[in-house]
Amino acid sequence: MRKESIYGLTYDRLKDWLVENGQKRFRADQVWDWLYCKRVKSFSDMKNVNKDTIHLLEDHYVIQTLDEAVKQESKDGTIKFLFELQDGNYIETVLMRFDYGLSVCVTTQVGCNIGCSFCASGILRKNRDLSSGEIVEQIMNVQHHLDDQGKNECVSHIVVMGIGEPFDNYDNTLDFLRIVNDQKGLSIGARHITVSTSGLADKIYQFADENLQVNLALSIHAPNNELRTRIMKINKAYPLEKLMPAIDYYLEKTNRRITFEYILLDDVNDHVEEAKQLVELLKDKRHLSYVNLIPYNPVADHPYERSRKQNILKFYETLLENGINCGVRVEQGSDIDAACGQLRSKQIEKAKKKKKASVS
Ligand code: SAH
Ligand code: SF4
Repeated sequence: MRKESIYGLTYDRLKDWLVENGQKRFRADQVWDWLYCKRVKSFSDMKNVNKDTIHLLEDHYVIQTLDEAVKQESKDGTIKFLFELQDGNYIETVLMRFDYGLSVCVTTQVGCNIGCSFCASGILRKNRDLSSGEIVEQIMNVQHHLDDQGKNECVSHIVVMGIGEPFDNYDNTLDFLRIVNDQKGLSIGARHITVSTSGLADKIYQFADENLQVNLALSIHAPNNELRTRIMKINKAYPLEKLMPAIDYYLEKTNRRITFEYILLDDVNDHVEEAKQLVELLKDKRHLSYVNLIPYNPVADHPYERSRKQNILKFYETLLENGINCGVRVEQGSDIDAACGQLRSKQIEKAKKKKKASVS
């Protein structure tokens, strides 16, 4: 039987498990400290933990389940990691450098079932959910990389914007958030974490009720149902008249600002008409809204192009003139396929070609 990653346990679950297995409660503090503060890479390096506990941990858990397959560094300092999971699947994680800190973009699923028509992850369908351990381990691997550089740098921000729909893997994503936010461990501030969803309304209600300070981003991408359904088929299940009340509930409950992500696709959703419709959609919540305009990263075999500069500018100005806070996302790591799902697609293509070549 494959052992689970130790990083998948919240502090409370680790403590309960150790106690159930005859260990003292304080062992949980020690183990947690070795994992997240001293950041050892094997149980046997946990020096002040007794042999019994070490053996128990080794019998049931592993520290490393992700295998680094590729690491690409961009000119701007962005680093993209491709990890192979224990079952041979690949996932991506990206480290980005900003003036406010180091931000990591994590993946939550192998592929994605939402199937947005512009997205590289969507083409491949979901193979499986990631465990909470596999999501936490992405952060730990990046942090270990930083530790190895010896510059005393720490991951300070997290965006849950890699491959997958986090709200389609809700419980594991929430455990992940609790683990990285735990003050005894990595202690990454909830306000420094953003979860992005394609708009699973039921889960937005649930997320609002969690009482977390984590930021929410909604991939809106179109201001009317006809267009939104065309590019995001999830809009059939959760059309705007179901989605926007969920957003209103979230805003009322948390009083936290929401980011609306809007990918600009040339001659699809980037006309002034759509900008005006977006203003209408958001005007009653503009005090708590921020629209992030995203220049599209073209994906092979997808019909879309990036919007032209003057259209991006016109869209931006229309929002701004009508009192909607907005900005255009600055690209990171475009020379290394840092956009959602792109490196993984390439790796899978390569693996397929290899297979074909070995068959013929
Ligand atoms: N599934 C979630 C989170 C992962 S996608 C969601 O859809 O929100 C994170 C963001 O990247 C989303 O806003 C998504 O629309 C955007 N994205 C996907 N493919 C992209 C591409 N090729 N270029 C630019 N942004 C892209
Ligand atoms: Fe899935 Fe998000 Fe890509 Fe849509 S944009 S296919 S929800 S990862």
